[in-house]
Amino acid sequence: MRKSKDVRPPSDIKPFAQTPLNLDVAIVGAGIGGLSAAIALVRDGHRVTVYESAAELSEIGAGVQMSPNGVRQWLEWGIGPNLLERSLMPSEMKLRRWKDGEFLSRTELNPDFERKFGAPYLVLHRADLHSVLLKHAVKLGVKVRVGSRVIEYDFDTPTIKLVNGEVVQPGLVVAVDGINSFARSQFSKFPYRGPQKTGVAAYRLMADIADLKADPETAWIVSSTDLNLWVGNNCSAMSYMICNGKYLNLVLSHPDATDTSNKSQQELTEEMLSYFHDWDPVLMKIVEKKKTIQNWPLFEVDPLDKWASDSGKFIVIGDAAHAMVPYLSMGVSMAVEDAAALAKALSYMKDRSDLLPALQLVEKLRIPRTKRVQEASFSNGQVLHLCDGPSQRQRDAALNPSAEGKLLDNSPYGLNDPKTQAWCYGYNVVRDVEDYVRSGGFRVNSHP
Ligand SMILES: Cc1cc2nc3c(=O)[nH]c(=O)nc-3n(C[C@H](O)[C@H](O)[C@H](O)COP(=O)(O)OP(=O)(O)OC[C@H]3O[C@@H](n4cnc5c(N)ncnc54)[C@H](O)[C@@H]3O)c2cc1C
Repeated sequence: MRKSKDVRPPSDIKPFAQTPLNLDVAIVGAGIGGLSAAIALVRDGHRVTVYESAAELSEIGAGVQMSPNGVRQWLEWGIGPNLLERSLMPSEMKLRRWKDGEFLSRTELNPDFERKFGAPYLVLHRADLHSVLLKHAVKLGVKVRVGSRVIEYDFDTPTIKLVNGEVVQPGLVVAVDGINSFARSQFSKFPYRGPQKTGVAAYRLMADIADLKADPETAWIVSSTDLNLWVGNNCSAMSYMICNGKYLNLVLSHPDATDTSNKSQQELTEEMLSYFHDWDPVLMKIVEKKKTIQNWPLFEVDPLDKWASDSGKFIVIGDAAHAMVPYLSMGVSMAVEDAAALAKALSYMKDRSDLLPALQLVEKLRIPRTKRVQEASFSNGQVLHLCDGPSQRQRDAALNPSAEGKLLDNSPYGLNDPKTQAWCYGYNVVRDVEDYVRSGGFRVNSHP
């Protein structure tokens, strides 16, 4: 786990100053979404401070898969060299049958995705991603204040009160405070039900590549950067390498049936085996080599029908607005798209009275998009987790030609369905904002 204390920009940094109207922006939450928003906004000349409740900045150790629609924004923001240095670019996703590893389908990822969607599909360690974003944000002039939990909001003025009693009054507050969002609980006119169980949880395991390489039965899994995903029987098991090929990351999804919060490593292992003991023996051999195991119940939040305050001085984005299950690898990308949409919308402002229409533009485009992705992610998980039976056989028959290298016109699995790929990964949020403005959908107050 990487840790860092309060961070301030070097004194010689000059803002990009692309926007005639520079705002003081307070971002609440220094997660991947908050730091992405900070980078997008500071690049446009806004003065950005991020308030983070944790006393030290860190990310929990596990892998993350990143889709091209989010990666594209980071590349445009100049993070490419540092990001790519820490990432792996898998060439394929291989879907396998749960019981025996039978090859069900192949999806070409890199360089195919880069050619089709203008950015690669990446996998990396969350801590690496977080530290790349933090470093970049600070270099561009973002101030990050740790130990600064926000405990009160006034959405009109706008003001935020920090846990130490300090009151801050910026020009705009952007809440990116995650699935347990305090901002959302205060903002929504409907009582916030908080994160909702999805009925699915995921064991996250890490194994040393060196151990896997040393065993002839498991060496094949680390002989390429491919993603392997075993599916069926109400569960799935995803594997990919992270940390420049130092560890294999395994994510074992299963029904969320018990409270594992106080369970030991031994108890978690026994419980994991109760779901997976009769899976592909090769997979189980890989699983045996794990160093650590954690269990993460997967939550969603109800779609939020209003993200911006009537004052036009507050907006909520990221997981707080649309947390989703990870079966299309779109959670991070949705937060990055939110950030890019916000920065682009603000760039059309001519004076401060344009804040409200700018935030409403973000809502208008982001609410339907994130809802659609949330739903598609959930149903993709259901397709992957089908138990043996007629629906599973139908799914496998539809997938099978791709295992033999044929391109599919339609696929029940989103990642290799051309239509899903196009609207999920080919989507360009900045272009969407531009098109919307061009079509006359955005009228600034100062220029009616
Ligand atoms: C098991 C699992 C696997 C996943 N895998 C993937 C994947 O492969 N690909 C993918 O794209 N996505 C994945 N996701 C989803 C992804 O992690 C999130 O969508 C993404 O991190 C969004 O982050 P965020 O910045 O909105 O929220 P968070 O990362 O939760 O950040 C919120 C931040 O706000 C801070 N905060 C909270 N309250 C306050 C307060 N009152 N004041 C100040 N600060 C506060 C928190 O401390 C935290 O730092 C996965 C999620 C899970 C659970």
